[in-house]
Amino acid sequence: MTATRTAIVTGSTSGIGLAIAEAFARDGMNVVINSFSDTPADHAIAERLSKEHKAEVVYIKADMSKAAECRALVARAAEEFGTVDVLVNNAGIQHVAPVEDFPTEKWDAIIAINLTSAFHTTAAAIPLMKKAGSGRIINIASAHGLVASAYKSAYVSAKHGIMGLTKTVALELAQDKITCNAICPGYVLTPLVEAQIPDQMKAHNMDRETVIREVMLDRQPTKEFVTVEQIAATAVFLASPAASQINGTHISVDGGWTAQ
Ligand code: NAD
Repeated sequence: MTATRTAIVTGSTSGIGLAIAEAFARDGMNVVINSFSDTPADHAIAERLSKEHKAEVVYIKADMSKAAECRALVARAAEEFGTVDVLVNNAGIQHVAPVEDFPTEKWDAIIAINLTSAFHTTAAAIPLMKKAGSGRIINIASAHGLVASAYKSAYVSAKHGIMGLTKTVALELAQDKITCNAICPGYVLTPLVEAQIPDQMKAHNMDRETVIREVMLDRQPTKEFVTVEQIAATAVFLASPAASQINGTHISVDGGWTAQ
């Protein structure tokens, strides 16, 4: 067992999760990186962060669509580092289709990965946090946890659901020095989003800048992407002593999207 705090970030081999993991490592925490695969590239991410930030960073494979693997991830992290102080439920996927055509298997996968996994990891982490006398649970929701968009029924349902889970967990643990909050990003330029730009350019016959401004950032009033570093800094803040009385709420980092 080490004196350093330990964080798990689910779905952290790319995008927002990776940036949060890197910010926590920079902040001196032990960090567990996670995804559903188990490749040398996954372990190399942990090794790079360990070296660059002189932190203890390990990769643990766990498929967030499977209840037992969600719970095993928390147990493995505790075996490795003694406890879990910060849990970031970040793993998430998307599928876009009209509700009457929405494939059932996509609905089930999105609800499992984007919502139910957070129930399992949280349930597994709470006894450890109670024993340690403190803890922070941070759920990466979305602007879609607050408002909807057409053709995203499963994603919007899962993200609204995680807002409810956030509030309930916060109330249950309010006297245990464990907080639970959500971060609601707007459009963030992750590799996933970057990969969509060429297709959108073709589909709309627009140049890159016009696609970003008129199509992708249509509802984001700043007309700028949020950066992964900005989400990571918000997570570092929510994990800090300054945030100990922030509980059961969310921080929107969406360029004004949900002010409309
Ligand atoms: P991303 O695709 O870059 O990263 C997702 C991560 O989750 C990857 O590491 C992937 O391997 C992992 N993952 C996927 N399925 C998994 C599974 N079954 N088990 C374990 N890991 C799994 O996506 P991102 O844009 O960084 O999104 C991260 C989170 O932020 C998601 O919850 C997403 O809904 C949320 N979010 C993203 C945006 C955005 O614009 N990018 C906006 C709002 C909210």
